[in-house]
Amino acid sequence: MHPATPLTELDWIPVPRRRQLERVGITTVDGLLTHFPKRYEDRTRFDHFPTGDSDQPVCVCGLVKKTSLRRFGGRQKMFDVVLEEENSHALSQPLICRWFNAHWVEKMIVTGQRLVVYGRPKHSKSSVVIAHPEFEIVENDAEVSLHLNRITPIHRATEGLSPRVMRRLIWDVLELVAKSPIHPLLPPTLDATPRGWALRQIHFPESQEALEKARRHLVLTEFFGMQLCLAAKRAEQTSQPGAVHFVSDSLMKRLHAALPFPLTGAQQRAIAEIRADLASTHPMNRLLHGDVGSGKTLVALSAMLLAVEAGYQAALMAPTQILAEQHYLNFLHLCEPLGLRVSLRTGARREDSSALPLISAGASPGEEPHLLVGTHALLFEGAGFTRLGLAVIDEQHKFGVLQRARLRSQGVAPDVLVMTATPIPRTLTMTLYGDLDVSTLDELPAHRGKIVTAVRDTAKLPDAVKFLREQLEAGRQAYVVYPLIDESEKLEAKAAATEFAKWQELLAPMPCALLHGRIAPEEKDAIMEKFRRGETKALIATTVIEVGIDVPNASIMLIENAERFGLAQLHQLRGRIGRGRHKSYCILLRSPKVEAEASEKLRILEETSDGFDIAEADLRLRGPGDILGTAQSGLPPLKLGNPIADHEWMRLARNAAFLLFERDPQLAQPENESFRRVLAETRKLMLSQVS
Ligand code: ADP
Ligand code: MG
Repeated sequence: MHPATPLTELDWIPVPRRRQLERVGITTVDGLLTHFPKRYEDRTRFDHFPTGDSDQPVCVCGLVKKTSLRRFGGRQKMFDVVLEEENSHALSQPLICRWFNAHWVEKMIVTGQRLVVYGRPKHSKSSVVIAHPEFEIVENDAEVSLHLNRITPIHRATEGLSPRVMRRLIWDVLELVAKSPIHPLLPPTLDATPRGWALRQIHFPESQEALEKARRHLVLTEFFGMQLCLAAKRAEQTSQPGAVHFVSDSLMKRLHAALPFPLTGAQQRAIAEIRADLASTHPMNRLLHGDVGSGKTLVALSAMLLAVEAGYQAALMAPTQILAEQHYLNFLHLCEPLGLRVSLRTGARREDSSALPLISAGASPGEEPHLLVGTHALLFEGAGFTRLGLAVIDEQHKFGVLQRARLRSQGVAPDVLVMTATPIPRTLTMTLYGDLDVSTLDELPAHRGKIVTAVRDTAKLPDAVKFLREQLEAGRQAYVVYPLIDESEKLEAKAAATEFAKWQELLAPMPCALLHGRIAPEEKDAIMEKFRRGETKALIATTVIEVGIDVPNASIMLIENAERFGLAQLHQLRGRIGRGRHKSYCILLRSPKVEAEASEKLRILEETSDGFDIAEADLRLRGPGDILGTAQSGLPPLKLGNPIADHEWMRLARNAAFLLFERDPQLAQPENESFRRVLAETRKLMLSQVS
């Protein structure tokens, strides 16, 4: 039987059941067999009945001694099931399973039944209770061998499709499938485990070892599919004819000569890598990442000058208005002396996209700018580039897989450089930016002022304020970051106003300014400009300042309720200081009762300023879900594998996929036929996810 066989062809599945499956997106044999268990219960040996609280859930089997239903508070109901261990002894204590307002459970459970129960026990008034446990009624029928005395799969349940029902169904389909050979989807060199065996073992493992082996095979299969897509994309990109965007580097050299500092070794390496890309006829697709303050902008600008000297335009797209303006000013300052025209375009006035505000420096009417700086809106509103040779996309925290696709789909095939705000752990670049080449800035410029980071209780605010005032009096400038409590417009404005009044008073008579997301773009510019010139001493701000703002004289940052921010975000915020020669101070105020995890987060910041370490720690603390949620847009969905925890397998799958494409770029060889199908299937999945 072919894996793509629709379930409609299995006429023994009752129609209502098939409909239920369809509702959760399962329509084929393969869809059913890759509906993997969410967990397993080892029902060859149950846990002992718990005698107290436990952090870990327990799985026990027992007999229903009695049930009781109580009503309280009008329409509320509490249903208790007293469960006894089968071979109870003098010390055994019954377990109470408790449900609130669970009408359907009341109807299912009766005295005398045998139950398997899974949940977290809590001690409550001299008895042990599991509230709303997962449970299964053991029926001594012909099926008992399927559900008991084995490592039993628990599949995700939805209404009508209990784990028990799913288990039976999958068992039957596995039996059916076992009659015909299942084609391997992996090169045997990667993993030679037969897929049919792996599918059976992932659902009905005969041992923990078999389960591990099956999982490895199936995760590799998923990863391999994903990496085939990335490898295909890469092969496509390199086979596309592109233009050579490099002639000579005299402009860039003039820029470098005018700088008051030498480039770091890492910057030079990155520029050399980019230059080789620009000089080749293959379109560049490169990721530039590095720590906060490692000087990514200068690398980007150097690349842009190479393209300009070759006779092309170069564009930089920033994620926010403020940042676009800052890059613009910076470029203006550096490039005007070279006789280049720089222009700023933003989509701030979206409603008027036909007449984008075009501010050009040095452009006489009718002349095309050499360098364009804008927000990402540049991409979407058809900026009308005439000779775009290089596009730099400054992505900050957004993983812009879709934006890159968008740019390419516009018909222009410029070289593309993607910049990210913080370093990306290697474990993730393989997945997130798997189709890109990578340049890493792993070195900070010398003579950077040190940043001292200190975590303090909110109660120490007066001390912090005193310190802040001293620093301001010594000529420094400061950022005060307050957490955004509510995103709603009204509340935000109110919170901002209150915060601002408070800080103005605390820091009087130092001139302060307020900056947050709801301030109109022109006003924001004016505020930033005054701060840059040093007329404003302290900027009271939300995280709008997080992205790339560069004011070297600002050397103190105070972050209120620091525990509310993410680790990477705090690191990025802190990166706003320590940019000049002054010693800098970052004070993280935290409320007294923060959870262990939050104080761990703040402690990491106190201890290290290495963005690569912090990125790894962030990944560890936050877990994959959060990060991959955004990251996976535009990538095939993963049902089983975890690109972070299983990154070693991701690496193996990646090597295998890229090797395959290296040897057979079209996958035209007969022995690669099945991989061509895998690729097509995975792509279909990806498309269904994007739309
Ligand atoms: P990021 O990598 O965080 O985007 P930027 O590109 O904003 O960092 O650079 C941070 C600051 O460091 C800027 O003020 C920039 O002019 C400066 N800078 C860049 N390269 C060097 C260098 N090689 N030596 C000293 N300062 C540098
Ligand atoms: Mg930057």
